[in-house]
Amino acid sequence: MSDRQVRALVWGENIHEQVDPVVQQMYPEGMHTAIAGGIREYLGDAATVRTATFLDPGHGLTQEAVDATDVLIWWSHTTQNDVHPAIVDRLQARVLAGMGLVVLHSGHYSAIFRKLMGTHCTLRWREADDREIIWTVNPSHPIAAGVKHGFVIPRSEMYGEIFDIPVPDELVFISSYSGGEVFRSGCCFRRGKGRVFYFSPGHEHFPIYHQPEIRRIIANAVRWAHQSELFDYDLARIYQSRTGWFEAGSATAPPPPLHRPSPEASEQRQRLRQLIDGAKAQTGL
Ligand code: ZN
Repeated sequence: MSDRQVRALVWGENIHEQVDPVVQQMYPEGMHTAIAGGIREYLGDAATVRTATFLDPGHGLTQEAVDATDVLIWWSHTTQNDVHPAIVDRLQARVLAGMGLVVLHSGHYSAIFRKLMGTHCTLRWREADDREIIWTVNPSHPIAAGVKHGFVIPRSEMYGEIFDIPVPDELVFISSYSGGEVFRSGCCFRRGKGRVFYFSPGHEHFPIYHQPEIRRIIANAVRWAHQSELFDYDLARIYQSRTGWFEAGSATAPPPPLHRPSPEASEQRQRLRQLIDGAKAQTGL
């Protein structure tokens, strides 16, 4: 938790809302607006909450917008592979530097979540009005604060195991369904300096983001994922650690110029490059 206000950005793709009357009726101002409302409700003055959607210029994820975000909340479904890779790279870099990321529901298959996890992030699913029960398995975790152990979502899409994610750094919630399946529904990960929380409820055909427990959990997650300062050490660079840098007083100062390589070293480097290029050419890719 931090004493500084959280700058939260709720990103919703806002596509179903344009074409599906059920979603329009449930979320007349868009799912992102309902999610943002829940965060404002529970965090009050501790947060400033903005929203952006896929339909905004630059999807609302310009460098400027991302730089002004401490915690990004993400809901996507039909646009998983439609956000430009350069924007996904931008989000990843910001997470590694310390931005929080709260990924909701079908966002499990978004490019940004898969990139951060490094696995398929696939799961079982069924849209059949299952009753879901969310169980707290880590009651002292800040994301579980004020949440009743074993609360019901009357109608939910089933997300079941096996969920192909890395073993979470912390597991906060699991879910069970009327169909018998179970699921790791609230998972924490650390990537670089960033904190990532995945929370599975939130299918667009059910009023889940109006449910108080769900709104509280998302707000708790925003607070947990927020870090007051982003990382000040440039991890995007590989540093050559020359003898004497410590005495010189700075680990991050630009390294002194390299010695001019000897003719032998230059020749070795050339041969090394030829070997690499030759092997690459053989792949036929
Ligand atoms: Zn869904």
